[in-house]
Amino acid sequence: MGETLFIVPEDMIPGGCAETALTADAGGARPPGAASGAVLHETPYGKVTQRGLALLRTAETDPRALIYAAKQAGATAVLAVARAEAVSPLLEPGDLVVPGDVIDLTRLLPPTFFVGKGYGFIRLDPPFCPVLAAALFAAAREKTPRAFRGATYVGLDGSRETTPAERRMYRTWGGDVAGAGLVPESFLARELELCYAGVTMVGEAQVDVLPALARAAAMVPHGRECGCRRAMAGARVQGLIGEDWREWVG
Ligand SMILES: [Zn+2]
Repeated sequence: MGETLFIVPEDMIPGGCAETALTADAGGARPPGAASGAVLHETPYGKVTQRGLALLRTAETDPRALIYAAKQAGATAVLAVARAEAVSPLLEPGDLVVPGDVIDLTRLLPPTFFVGKGYGFIRLDPPFCPVLAAALFAAAREKTPRAFRGATYVGLDGSRETTPAERRMYRTWGGDVAGAGLVPESFLARELELCYAGVTMVGEAQVDVLPALARAAAMVPHGRECGCRRAMAGARVQGLIGEDWREWVG
C-alpha cells in the first residue's frame, strides 16, 4: 500500500478538485493515513502538508522535510513536479520535460541528510530513478505530444530569476531547463533509498499535470530492478548504519 507519493508545488493544488483527480486515477492506492482531507506530517525539518497523494512543496519547505515525510508515510517511490525555465530554445511554455541528469547549482539548500556522518557518498549515475523517469515520461506523453525526456536539469535555489547570461551559460553546459525543486530532493531521496523522478513544467503555463502523475504511479512496476532501494547498502555492509533509517539521519 501507498508505495508512490507525489511532491507538488502548493500552487498546483487548487483544492478539492485536484485531490479527486489524484486519487481517482491511482487505482485506490492511498497511503496509510491519507484520508480525503489534509494530513500534516511532523518531521525534524519542519511540517509538511499532504493532500491526497500529494505532499505540498512551498517556497519555505525544507527539502529534507518532504523526503523525510514521504519515507515516514511508507512510500518507496516519489514522483515530483516543479516549474522550470526553458534553457533550450526548442522548449515552449507548457512543455513537460522529464530530466535524466542534473547540474546542481544550489547554494542555500541542504544537499544531504548526513552532514558530518562520514557516509552517504551515494551513486548519482543516474541522479533520477530510471524506472520512474520512464513511467513519468510515458504518462506525460499520453497527456501531450510536447513531452520530452533525457533532459538536463539545472538545479537552482529559486531565490531569484536567472539572468540572460546565466541562461546562455547553462545552454553551453548542455542544460535544457533550469529551476528549483527537484534538486536536492532527488539526492535526499536516494539517501533514504527512495526511487525518485520528476517532471518539470516549462514557464508559468497552467497544465493539469496531476492526472499524469497518478497515471505514472500506476505504470511503475512493483518488482522494479533499479538500485535505489539499495543505495545505502555499502554503508550498511560496513556497519556504519543499521536498518532503521531514522537513525541514519539523526
Ligand atoms: Zn528506483
